[in-house]
Amino acid sequence: MRIAVYPGSFDPVTNGHVDIIKRAAKMVDHLVIGVLHNSSKTPLFSAEERVNMLSEVCQGIPNVEIRHFEGLLVDFVMECNATIVVRGLRAVTDFEYELQWAQSNRIVCPQMDTMFLVTNVQYSYLSSSVVREYASHRGDISPFVPPLVAERLKEKYN
Ligand code: ADP
Repeated sequence: MRIAVYPGSFDPVTNGHVDIIKRAAKMVDHLVIGVLHNSSKTPLFSAEERVNMLSEVCQGIPNVEIRHFEGLLVDFVMECNATIVVRGLRAVTDFEYELQWAQSNRIVCPQMDTMFLVTNVQYSYLSSSVVREYASHRGDISPFVPPLVAERLKEKYN
């Protein structure tokens, strides 16, 4: 059974993330979306809120499970009995950071491989931080996120 983990902050989940989730879910038997709870950062949405939004967004995808984790990704990947980590690449600027993590993770956990999916071009500009910035200024975020996420963002900033 091929189990993969797609880790990230997902603060909040965007259409770019959803695209990666749908494509990765077709490639593996089981996809765990790992929502990172980083206690040294203050996210806009709590880990619980981010897990809930992802659960609603991924409702129609049968082989996807949403969990949150703290600490090292390699430990979470082993806990999930996964051997694949999925990451999205938007531009060359993502590459150096991702390469460092992929290589260091393989030293610690040689059975683990990182699978990079290149973003669909219509999402290559899109990041959670751009979405948060638009939302904070009451901008139109409907092109960027699923409708329920747009609703939650409006509630946050009202
Ligand atoms: P992180 O804090 O790990 O960067 P993010 O939630 O921003 O978490 O992103 C999680 C993963 O999704 C990363 O691999 C990132 O490159 C990828 N990703 C983010 N935005 C997009 C997008 N618009 N298209 C494709 N992949 C994306």
